[in-house]
Amino acid sequence: MAIQRTLCIIKPDAVEKKKQGAILQHLLDAGFDILAMRQLTLSRRMAEGFYAVHKERPFFGELVEFMTRGPVVVVALEGEDAVKRYREVIGATDPAEAAPGTVRQLYGASKGENAVHGSDSEDNGRQEIAYFFEAHQLL
Ligand code: ADP
Ligand code: MG
Repeated sequence: MAIQRTLCIIKPDAVEKKKQGAILQHLLDAGFDILAMRQLTLSRRMAEGFYAVHKERPFFGELVEFMTRGPVVVVALEGEDAVKRYREVIGATDPAEAAPGTVRQLYGASKGENAVHGSDSEDNGRQEIAYFFEAHQLL
């Protein structure tokens, strides 16, 4: 296995509940390193661009509304086999189906409001990190 990078976004629902600290600690305890991190409120344009792959899906409008309603914390993570391991640590998209002790099971509310984003491949992880961070911020 190799060291990989992956993007976490702590979504507005979790920030509203003040769970960003607990989620970051959960990820640190799981062995990930934080390469870079910042809080921002996504513009509609940023959210639509980030989720462009989903633009034909019926939930796209709802997803953009949700992701722009308040601050998010974007976190570039690094670790051994990070893409797959992070997906395991966050759990299934729907918190009701996420395994016990996963981030989404612990902090998510619904299939839409599920506390965190996770990259689904190493390539997408790289692209998603580049969407939010400049190369010099990741050294
Ligand atoms: P994941 O975030 O687990 O990779 P997807 O890529 O399928 O899941 O979907 C992206 C995001 O869109 C989800 O995390 C969730 O916030 C939202 N979403 C997915 N499916 C639905 C749905 N059926 N209804 C509302 N929102 C959804
Ligand atoms: Mg996805």
